[in-house]
Amino acid sequence: MSTSSTNELKFRDSVDLMFNRAASFMDISPKLIEKIRVCNATYTVRFGVKLRGEVHTFTGYRAVHSEHKEPVKGGIRYSLDVNQDEVEALAALMTYKTALVEVPYGGSKGGLCIDPKAWDEEELERITRRFTFELARRDLIHPSLNVPAPDMGTGEREMAWMMDEYRRLNNTNIDNIACVTGKPVHLGGIEGRVEATGRGVQYALQEFFRHNDDKKKASLRGELDGKKIVIQGLGNVGYHAAKFLSEEDGAKIITVIERFGVVRNPKGVNIEKLKQHMLSGEPLADFQGGTVTNPDPTAICDACDILIPAAMEAAINMDNAHSIKAKVIVEAANGPVTAKADKILRDKGVFIIPDMYANAGGVTVSYFEWVKNIGHIRFGRLQRRNQEAKNRELIEALETQGGLKFTKSFKSGFIEGANEIDLVRAGLDDTMRGAYGNIKAALIAKPELEDMRTAAFYVAISDIALHYRSIGL
Ligand code: GLU
Repeated sequence: MSTSSTNELKFRDSVDLMFNRAASFMDISPKLIEKIRVCNATYTVRFGVKLRGEVHTFTGYRAVHSEHKEPVKGGIRYSLDVNQDEVEALAALMTYKTALVEVPYGGSKGGLCIDPKAWDEEELERITRRFTFELARRDLIHPSLNVPAPDMGTGEREMAWMMDEYRRLNNTNIDNIACVTGKPVHLGGIEGRVEATGRGVQYALQEFFRHNDDKKKASLRGELDGKKIVIQGLGNVGYHAAKFLSEEDGAKIITVIERFGVVRNPKGVNIEKLKQHMLSGEPLADFQGGTVTNPDPTAICDACDILIPAAMEAAINMDNAHSIKAKVIVEAANGPVTAKADKILRDKGVFIIPDMYANAGGVTVSYFEWVKNIGHIRFGRLQRRNQEAKNRELIEALETQGGLKFTKSFKSGFIEGANEIDLVRAGLDDTMRGAYGNIKAALIAKPELEDMRTAAFYVAISDIALHYRSIGL
């Protein structure tokens, strides 16, 4: 974690502080609260892989925060910043996140302390397979016990290697491919998983704009259309969120903050063009669609309506929180606002849509993938043509008997039955709307919760406490 101020709490303490704040409003025994808060177990593994003629030792972690529901779920990140504290804090966030969005899992998180850019593809595959083997030996990857997924520094490619390694070791388990989510579609993944976290950020913001009272709290009016957005990080989450919000909702991405520089355009940066430029390997400075400057820590304080931190933890901290000008912050990354910054921002009246809710799209669609895997059938396969036939009959009846006339494009759009991506997006949208509603309901029932983060923790902790109480704990 890269908190610039020494007075800042560690990430895990930051999460615990936010947890405790919500717990203080609850009528639950302190002992049960303690049970819910602590991380059940963390496994540390050090393993050697012979690469480039030498043995290299790697350190990996898998933390299991809560097994009140199984499998436990959460990503595996590859980064040199990975450490036990961070993995445990992230595992805790997974427990609360899955509870909040009603995804039936406990929370887990893993990490490998590695710079993925320092190794070529073949080397990374060998390292990943070996890490998987170590996890599999202890059931820390398992379709019914522990299901990893992509996170920072990992993606479909790593999930494919992990799945294949697990499958090799467990070839008689009919559900073996459900051991990880975020796989490529042709290897048992699901349409819409890659875009899912960014899509969830979009749905979260759309839902925010449906609530006039929340817009008022944030001193915002109108719709998403034309709103000015600053985004930090154009990785998988930031890219998809910025792309959908600008291309589909008409928002203007006025500032993109990236590792190698900042791109600004008051008319809105074309996200697809910028992403293609970045992927081409050309220097950021050569991008033609905006003003490009060197890395600038003050860019996060650019005047805007909405700030979307979609990169690292602690991006907004005691050092910059006072200067943030955004009216709304949508936490697309995990833990981008430190506990101390959170207080400063709340006092300033900034409306924060917390990570636990805003970035839950990934795990939600992971859940759909896992259900697809253990069901062994693609969503929509049974119903699609049936639905299409019924829609066609309806249109024909309205045209022949009702005397109505529809355009060709309306007809083809309406008649077509839902395919997997339509169902995934609809399920995700429903999940995001439902969770927002639950957070709002908690705030109405207990106004002293005051903010969305505390209310989100409150909803999640209540759900877990109910689970434990019902089984007699
Ligand atoms: N790594 C993602 C997260 O932090 C997704 C986890 C998952 O799909 O299990 O939520």
